[in-house]
Amino acid sequence: MRIKDIFKERTVFSFEVFPPKKTSSIDVIYKTLDEMKGLEPDFISVTFSAGGSGNGGFACDIASRIKEMGITPVIHLPCINNTKEEISATLDEIKERGIENILALRGDINPDIPPKTDFLHASDLITFIKTKGDFDIAGACYPEGHPDSDSLVDDIINLRKKVEAGADHLITQLFFDNEYFYDFREKAAIAGINVPIEAGIMPVVNKNQIERMVTTCGASLPKKFVKIMQKYEHNPEALRDAGIAYAVNQIVDLVANGVDGIHLYTMNNSYVARKISEAVLGIIRS
Ligand code: FAD
Repeated sequence: MRIKDIFKERTVFSFEVFPPKKTSSIDVIYKTLDEMKGLEPDFISVTFSAGGSGNGGFACDIASRIKEMGITPVIHLPCINNTKEEISATLDEIKERGIENILALRGDINPDIPPKTDFLHASDLITFIKTKGDFDIAGACYPEGHPDSDSLVDDIINLRKKVEAGADHLITQLFFDNEYFYDFREKAAIAGINVPIEAGIMPVVNKNQIERMVTTCGASLPKKFVKIMQKYEHNPEALRDAGIAYAVNQIVDLVANGVDGIHLYTMNNSYVARKISEAVLGIIRS
């Protein structure tokens, strides 16, 4: 099923998973997917490393597995380290496997890998994908602005180019303060971006995740969030439950404010995905 058609029917609820490292067994993620199967996500997306970890083959296999399970897969496709020929070959494989939905991405620029020049931005990739088949195409967006942009407004002007190139819908970077999302959504609407925008929510359920959040993703951490994390950082079970509760509160508020969809960064944790689904699915589908 094409994701754009699901948005026409209801508020979308989706999961994101990532492939294991090339040296690990793929069976671990298959077991996780089996555990997530009954949670009724509208789709599950699979990340694809732009940084040369070589897990692209895994990503296609995992997307195929999701399809076999009767759930719609979305495959992420970064382009910054690839030529047109390489992307074309991957698109052929995606098509052969019957995968209809792609999240088109530039990918992060790795200082150790000089970027290729065929695709400078996700919008270039989207234009190229459009010449290669009839795919449903998603794009990424950033409620607090992409780190490469001078301002949120500049980033939204560029986001409009992505939508004009053919992005059917958007998924946001994770955020912990819904006000950033509402401000971004309003600015995007003013800029004429009228495709559905799914809110990316990451439940923070362990200490490593908190540290990674602070150093890599650049999302603002509201006082309320920091207080909770500090209080429970030495109590893993309480931290996990508090992280789940925080994400549930964010989702309930977003749904009450008419969000188009919720994309859950599951971190391959089926327990967390289940707890959150149990708490919010009825609200999302009501
Ligand atoms: P772009 O849309 O190209 O934007 C990058 C920068 O260029 C921004 O500052 C933007 O304002 C500017 N820009 C965009 N278009 C233009 C234009 N036409 N002209 C001039 N400037 C422009 N990375 C992975 O490697 N693998 C994944 O699986 C993955 N999944 C992700 C999933 C989601 C939901 C999100 C939000 C991010 C994901 N990422 C992934 C990370 C992503 O690759 C990085 O954030 C990357 O730095 C930017 O990718 P992009 O597609 O948003 O780039």
